[in-house]
Amino acid sequence: MQLFSRYFKPTFTCKNIFDIDLSLLNQRKIRLLILDIDKTLGAIKQKTPSEDVIEWLEHAKSKGFLLYIMSNNRQSRVKEFAENLDIPFIYKAMKPLKLNFKRIINNCGVTPEQTCMVGDKYFTDILGANRMGFCSVLVDGGYFNEYNK
Ligand SMILES: [Mg+2]
Repeated sequence: MQLFSRYFKPTFTCKNIFDIDLSLLNQRKIRLLILDIDKTLGAIKQKTPSEDVIEWLEHAKSKGFLLYIMSNNRQSRVKEFAENLDIPFIYKAMKPLKLNFKRIINNCGVTPEQTCMVGDKYFTDILGANRMGFCSVLVDGGYFNEYNK
């Protein structure tokens, strides 16, 4: 149980990205949000982000957060989704391995303590975040599939 909470316990859980308390993350001195795509920013088969997601991303930027999209999915999927967002992205990211998490925070010039991973999966997003010493938000992976019906 201790091992479970050490590696798989998110800092926060939210129904979806819209429920994330950005002021609270600000208070915690978070500067970078790393965002998963599938079931976090959209449904699995959704090729491009919805208007409300685009608005939320813009809102987060306007609050001063750096954003980075990080997906284990293939190049074509990630490129098409992120294409018009003006947010850097990485595909085939191999979460939960540390390599690309390290690359992202180095590129952004932030520390692990200033970083928050947002995703729907314990074994990739949350485990990766905890191994790196990031803050994390686990979103409910069912949300976008429900939402798109
Ligand atoms: Mg996902």
